Amino acid sequence: MMARSHVVVGVAAWLAAAPLLHLAPYDPAYLVLAAAGALLPDVDHPASWVGRRTRPLSTALAALLGHRGVTHSALAVLGLLALLAEAGGRRGVVAALVVGYLSHLAADMLTPRGLRLAWPLRGSWGVPLCRTGSAMETVIVLALVAGTLWSMRHEAALAALCGRVCR
Ligand SMILES: [Zn+2]
Repeated sequence: MMARSHVVVGVAAWLAAAPLLHLAPYDPAYLVLAAAGALLPDVDHPASWVGRRTRPLSTALAALLGHRGVTHSALAVLGLLALLAEAGGRRGVVAALVVGYLSHLAADMLTPRGLRLAWPLRGSWGVPLCRTGSAMETVIVLALVAGTLWSMRHEAALAALCGRVCR
């Protein structure tokens, strides 16, 4: 997906996830971190938004490991969690970055190339619904935003329903 789509999906994922994590969904720092986390995996692509800003790192990663390699895997998520834990990251900081990062992986799984989630093992997973930059990508992003807005508007009703069902 395009960088703008990743940012929108990352922020939407954060707005949906934050209440479940008992964190402030509208905290500007968390919103920025979720957007940053949503862009971070494409550091392995020199032509991506983040790749253009992190050369020569992105060029080296692309040459050594390829695009959608380790940075788009479960190993990267575990590595990010370990780095943040080692750095003493606050719970909200870690959560926002990881939710954004996971949203990127989920969004990329909707493209025909899929993801090698078990990198370095071969084999990719995905549900090919749209090509990067296509009109369908825009439709999917708008549908995710609409679903997030709907769930936020009905959060109290959903919590009450869940409270009744989960008892
Ligand atoms: Zn990507």
